[in-house]
Amino acid sequence: MEISELYADIIMDHQRNPRNYGTLEEKDVEVHTTNSSCGDEIFLEIKFDGDKISQIAFHGHGCAISKSSASIMTELVKGISKQKALELSKKFVEMVKIGKTQERELKDAVVFQGVSQYPLRTKCATLSWHALEEALKRTAV
Ligand code: ZN
Repeated sequence: MEISELYADIIMDHQRNPRNYGTLEEKDVEVHTTNSSCGDEIFLEIKFDGDKISQIAFHGHGCAISKSSASIMTELVKGISKQKALELSKKFVEMVKIGKTQERELKDAVVFQGVSQYPLRTKCATLSWHALEEALKRTAV
């Protein structure tokens, strides 16, 4: 993959030490999602505090891209509102589709810009974000 070494390092770091990995004691919603083209599987759990994502955790198995993307996603959306999380998700999915972004809010998630060149891998990168959208949809007021 033609991504910089810095990007590769960030992906490897999140794959080896995924943030918010595991399960929550208390949760409001759980989404199970799979990416059959790669074999990735993610369980995403969220606890809300009013409109805010107060706790988020994921577990499952899959490739480095899906796992590191899920880890980065949970870091980005923890503590923010549902609306804000949804906006970030749309920006991420758009970035992966067109291969670039101007959105600073995506922070470390920009490392996945390069996967746009690999259609099968884009599903790995967006899997956890789609799980997030599903979770937000299910808990919409
Ligand atoms: Zn994958």
